[in-house]
Amino acid sequence: MHFQWYPGHMSKAKRMMQEDMKLIDVVIELVDARIPLSSKNPDINQMAGSKSRVILLNKSDLADDNQNLKWKEYFEKQGYIAVLVNSKKGDGVRKVNDAVVEACKAKIERDRKKGILNRPLRAMVVGIPNVGKSTFINSISGKAAAKTGNKPGVTKGKQWIKLNKSIELLDTPGILWPKFEDQKVGLHLALIGSIKEEILNSYDLGIALIGFLTKNYKGALEQRYGIIETESVDENLSAIAKKRGCLLKGGELDLERAASFLVDDLRNAKLGKITLQFPAESTADTNIQEEK
Ligand code: GDP
Repeated sequence: MHFQWYPGHMSKAKRMMQEDMKLIDVVIELVDARIPLSSKNPDINQMAGSKSRVILLNKSDLADDNQNLKWKEYFEKQGYIAVLVNSKKGDGVRKVNDAVVEACKAKIERDRKKGILNRPLRAMVVGIPNVGKSTFINSISGKAAAKTGNKPGVTKGKQWIKLNKSIELLDTPGILWPKFEDQKVGLHLALIGSIKEEILNSYDLGIALIGFLTKNYKGALEQRYGIIETESVDENLSAIAKKRGCLLKGGELDLERAASFLVDDLRNAKLGKITLQFPAESTADTNIQEEK
């Protein structure tokens, strides 16, 4: 699924989210576990103000288990309640209810002191397109409740999904746009297939991916394609093209097609569980505000 950049859409989505923000106690933010910071828009910090925060590392089934734990720790250090989730299968989804209550502990206590008991916590899901917001909402609500597609403005009246006696979830997610601060963000989003491929052609994507894999996931290419990995990115791509029989009419290797295969294999997790961005290399961008 692809999306386009419409400034009109973007500002409308932002306005709507700011309106919705007034109705809720807690923001459930989805990021892609394979590229947690590249799939995150730090503007949410300012939009959410002092609301309670939960961060879900979604699609954790596609990411490296080791890095998943490191990322969870990374976000916890920044003051989030963080949960590893696979919305498609439902893994981790039930933990989110407890996470929401935990994130709202201070608010529940404040309410209690004011004599307000058992007022449901109101939550909304936010995240960039394709991160899995609808899938998550469907999964946690246990029915096909969430609307699919990214059409801010479809729902006029606010619909709340009652998750249990203590949590209500807004049925429409808030859409954040990724922040293209540097080229890496664009590369990451293109590799996982969440932005239009034309931004980077498959050859360039493939070359970048081979460079990353041979450095960080040695053996992944050997295992998938039966090639001998070398230091040279070009040699590796040629070897993949040969193994896959990617040939042009004159018999020359079709490197573009081989690169395309490779990127598809990454997206379909055929190269194994791969995380493309590591917390150790990431600067702390997003210290969220403490609840006052
Ligand atoms: P939205 O645009 O944020 O609402 O994203 P969607 O819910 O439409 O999901 C985008 C794609 O990601 C769909 O093809 C989903 O099936 C897939 N998806 C969502 N969550 C997960 C997950 O946890 N694991 C995997 N493997 N795929 C997921």
